[in-house]
Amino acid sequence: MASLKNVSRPRRVVARLAATAFMVAVVAVSTAFSAGPSPFATDTLALASPSEPTSHDIRPGYGVTETRWLSDYLPALANTSGDTPIYVMQGDREGGTLLLFGGTHANEIAGIMAATLLVERGEVAQGTVIVIPHTNNSAAQRNDRERHAGTPDWFELTTSSGEIRRFRYGSRRTAAEDQGPDPEVFVHPLGGEIDGSEARNLNRNHPGKPDGTLTEQVAYALNQLAEQEGVDVVVDMHESSVTSRLAHMVVCHQRAMEVCAMAVMDVEMDGVALKLEVSQEDFHGLSHREFGDHTDALAVLIETPNPGQEDAIEHPDVVNDPESPLSGRVHTQLRTVKAILDNYGFTVGPDGGIEFGFPFSLDALKGSDLGTFLR
Ligand SMILES: [Zn+2]
Repeated sequence: MASLKNVSRPRRVVARLAATAFMVAVVAVSTAFSAGPSPFATDTLALASPSEPTSHDIRPGYGVTETRWLSDYLPALANTSGDTPIYVMQGDREGGTLLLFGGTHANEIAGIMAATLLVERGEVAQGTVIVIPHTNNSAAQRNDRERHAGTPDWFELTTSSGEIRRFRYGSRRTAAEDQGPDPEVFVHPLGGEIDGSEARNLNRNHPGKPDGTLTEQVAYALNQLAEQEGVDVVVDMHESSVTSRLAHMVVCHQRAMEVCAMAVMDVEMDGVALKLEVSQEDFHGLSHREFGDHTDALAVLIETPNPGQEDAIEHPDVVNDPESPLSGRVHTQLRTVKAILDNYGFTVGPDGGIEFGFPFSLDALKGSDLGTFLR
């Protein structure tokens, strides 16, 4: 597959027009829907059979230069619920390549919405940013209530024009019907035994297998993408319960620790306090471990606190929780990604940098209605 770095300017213009046309089509469809009952009012099982990828309300903006599918990197995923759109945002200046995951765990919505906001409103000044908002798209089909009985099927955000947009609150793991029965014990090929249900946890299955389970195939395709596109930095955006040790944490592969340490200091100056932890060497299957070990990329995982993952909160408000509002969590995710890229840029010099931005200050997200920043 041709490297994205070699995509010619005319092709980029065509891709940009295509992205804009797609966005207009999505808006038209959504306007048509708004006249009658919402098609999303029923469970998505009626809309997406397990053999097809779930579709989402994502409206790519001017920064998206090309849309691909994960199955471009493993054709066996085509027409399966493991397939998912990939948004390529190429800057005018040559530089490095970021691969950004939201929705590895589809109930961890700050990462999904950070990725969605980037696709809809972001622009890349240097390098290439490859964004996957729903990295485990099978897990995004529905909320299986595994992590919290009180979490919603959908959450709603209101845009600046007053439109209500609806987004899936999914599950931690690949849907059971997409993968068959769990083994009693899940044994990672590189070592380690954990509960059998973790066979459906994408973040225990890296670097994956081309002929493995659906979850292993998704992991393998992501790994292939990173290799084929010469990805320099991988960031996997997660959430944890608000009282978890993981909340407000950055976990980094050994090779990424220097960049991560500088990034944590940068975001702290902006009032965002993050803990820093190094990836365990002998705990296999996690993105920060395996992308760091099996590709040339620096691999990083970010965790923000989601009240929907907290057992002690009986009726969690996953959007407007006063302590951990979604807008603030999305701010933390994007601010941290930017700090990682800034410091990555210092280590590689001006020609290798990666830089994205928005037509608004990221700080404006704090304490705001996230929907007003979407398209
Ligand atoms: Zn997670």
